[in-house]
Amino acid sequence: MLILGIECTAHTFGCGIASSTGEILVNVNDEYIPPTGGIHPREAARHHSAVAPEILGRAFEEAGVEARDIDGIAISLGPGLGPCLRTGATVARALSIYLNKPLIPVNHCVAHIEIGRLTCKIDDPLVVYVSGGNTIIAAYVEGKYRVFGETMDIALGNCLDVFARRAGLPHPGGPYVEKLAKAGSNFIKLPYVVKGQDVSFSGLLTAALRKLEEGYRLEDLCYSLQEVAFSMICEVAERAIAHTRKREVLLTGGVAANKRLQEMLRQVAAEHDAIFKVVPREYARDNGAMIAWTGTLCLRHNIVLPVEESYVRPRWRLDRVDVPWMEA
Ligand code: AMP
Ligand code: MG
Repeated sequence: MLILGIECTAHTFGCGIASSTGEILVNVNDEYIPPTGGIHPREAARHHSAVAPEILGRAFEEAGVEARDIDGIAISLGPGLGPCLRTGATVARALSIYLNKPLIPVNHCVAHIEIGRLTCKIDDPLVVYVSGGNTIIAAYVEGKYRVFGETMDIALGNCLDVFARRAGLPHPGGPYVEKLAKAGSNFIKLPYVVKGQDVSFSGLLTAALRKLEEGYRLEDLCYSLQEVAFSMICEVAERAIAHTRKREVLLTGGVAANKRLQEMLRQVAAEHDAIFKVVPREYARDNGAMIAWTGTLCLRHNIVLPVEESYVRPRWRLDRVDVPWMEA
């Protein structure tokens, strides 16, 4: 069984093809990089509709697969930016009708977890998913991936990106913050906000920006921002590991590329005798392959959607999705 997956929740339009045995035949993605400033949803959606025909064509060509050989079309219906979601859903619906193949609704956050379980060969992890738009600590318990901590305001990646932009660094700023942080030596005190199992980055961002205006050294601020933000994530992740007693920790999302965050979480996992894995870069960022692979899992459990009911779900929460394939 072969499934085409389409990713389109935010900055990336991507197509992947996966087999039900876990083979990724192709993973073609095109990320929208705004000329200035942050991502405007409508501009990103315009990008997606412009590149969709080429990305789709390349996916089939590189996989050596004919469109009619596909058994279903998986689409990430949310969570994400409305205009982007609608553009991807339009492509998916058209293909579903034209090819007469089932349309498979995939939750973007579930897909990040499933591609991580597949590519890291782990079974039942405590997941730390940190990206430009999401910050979620999750684990499987009784039929669903439950949320054991999340951001109450902006995502970790967004916090790093906005700080970087205001410091005059290119977009996305996360990798630049990481690079400059290595040259930081003085720790500057910044607000550390953990409430119960949830984190908040907006006050931290505001404080860091104020220090920037006050003339503190950028390298020291990058270093301090990372230390504070990542410690918050580690604190919440550690309590979640202790509570759920998971034996594996999976780090995914775009911010997973950060070596300092990896180092800190690896230590936390080791203290609890848990295996630590980082999703490979190609599959940690938004991509079509993760939607395709999750689509195969859904289709095996008859999770399909009539085209006329395929509304986009901009606020579709991870912990509302049934994941029957996780049942022992
Ligand atoms: P995603 O939304 O999953 O595609 O991830 C994009 C986010 O990952 C952006 O906010 C980037 O700034 C961030 N990112 C990518 N590489 C790094 C890095 N090395 N350190 C910190 N953040 C990063
Ligand atoms: Mg994502």
